[in-house]
Amino acid sequence: TLQDRLAATFKSLRGKGRLTDADIDATAREIRIALLEADVNLGVVKDFIAKVKERAREAEVSAALNPAQQIVKIVNEELVQILGGETRNLRFAKRPPTIIMLAGLQGAGKTTLAGKLAMWLKGQGHSPLLAACDLQRPNAVNQLQIVGQRAGVQTFAPEPGNGVGDPVAVARQAVTEAERSLHDVLIIDTAGRLGIDAELMQQAADIREATSPDEVLFVVDAMIGQDAVNTAKAFGDGVGFDGVVLTKLDGDARGGAALSIARVTGKPIMFASNGEKLTDFDVFHPDRMAGRILDMGDMLTLIEQAERTFDAEQSQKAAEKLMTGGGKEFGLADFLQQMQAVRKMGPLSKIFGMLPGMGQFKDQIENIDEKEIDRIEAIIHSMTPAERDNPKILNGSRRARIAKGSGVEVSDVNSLVNRFFDARKMMSSLAGGGGMPGMPGMPG
Ligand code: GDP
Ligand code: MG
Repeated sequence: TLQDRLAATFKSLRGKGRLTDADIDATAREIRIALLEADVNLGVVKDFIAKVKERAREAEVSAALNPAQQIVKIVNEELVQILGGETRNLRFAKRPPTIIMLAGLQGAGKTTLAGKLAMWLKGQGHSPLLAACDLQRPNAVNQLQIVGQRAGVQTFAPEPGNGVGDPVAVARQAVTEAERSLHDVLIIDTAGRLGIDAELMQQAADIREATSPDEVLFVVDAMIGQDAVNTAKAFGDGVGFDGVVLTKLDGDARGGAALSIARVTGKPIMFASNGEKLTDFDVFHPDRMAGRILDMGDMLTLIEQAERTFDAEQSQKAAEKLMTGGGKEFGLADFLQQMQAVRKMGPLSKIFGMLPGMGQFKDQIENIDEKEIDRIEAIIHSMTPAERDNPKILNGSRRARIAKGSGVEVSDVNSLVNRFFDARKMMSSLAGGGGMPGMPGMPG
């Protein structure tokens, strides 16, 4: 696996300078193979790797992770980003019914999805109606009716024996029916062919035109791998869609199609289907998919653990240093490190609020917001090491230089320095008075 290969490529080098080009290239090569094995489109892989390499070159070597882990972490973050970051929810119409149209190739899983989606929506208190607008395949209407029955929802279908059906007309009638019978969601099932087909595209585009759906969902089989890009492009151009549903994720496909489609169309993947049962369905989780594409869930867990342990060690060290005086005086670098460690643990005011004896500083604490920490970070980064160790040397011209370097006002630098001296005084008085119970064991 990728995990083994990466482990073999690297000894556990830690914490010096920047990632070397050799580290980056070696890891990028392995990631590239992993993505191709996951059936990600070659063009997409190339773009992706270039982006990751660029980020890796800019990254400073982490003290918590070895270079391979660090690059994998970047890869994972980029994957999650392309796959949509946060899950996107369905958009409901201000005035019901909300119209959801399903489009995709034959066999993609549209009809099955109609039932899954209906059941899922029903579970959330909606009252969906299915519309049978696949009049291409002889049995398609019946299939949707059966799926609807299983999901416990009604299906709108053309009258039998009504000659050759017109799917656009049926779609229109279905909208009217949904309004009349007070269904708040209408799910339109459409026909698909085996390959990309101009006539089919036109039909889907006409249905879209006639019903103005709130969401057009492109349904695609995760197993089709490389073809996903062309199919998605064709549907994007021919019909247009707002979101993607990946089906058959219960198969052994690693899900490269997801990445290719997301990258090429820029549309969010909204749902995932993973089986033939109506309950085999969920909203799409970009992070889980990224893990699946990389095929190294264990490695990602290890990375998280390594970082968390490292953070805990750092804050422990800082706390100990504080308590004991640490031989060296508590400086601005320690101040920053503490803030950063604390920030990772949650909203600041909450954390400080939990510390005994901190009640008296309540106002001051609540005034620290997250943006301010960014500014503090920038200011401290603009100082020389000597200034960080011994802020007493910060005279007017040094302060002006720092303000310029970090893009803030001199008054911001002054207020940080004053706050630092206050904090140091406060800490040493607390430490002198028997220490701060619970400080090293802050919740984390
Ligand atoms: P449509 O032509 O797009 O309407 O596709 P169907 O809904 O008829 O599905 C085609 C086939 O794929 C059927 O045999 C479904 O049972 C099956 N199918 C649909 N979704 C999934 C899924 O998520 N996993 C698996 N294993 N099979 C699925
Ligand atoms: Mg169908």
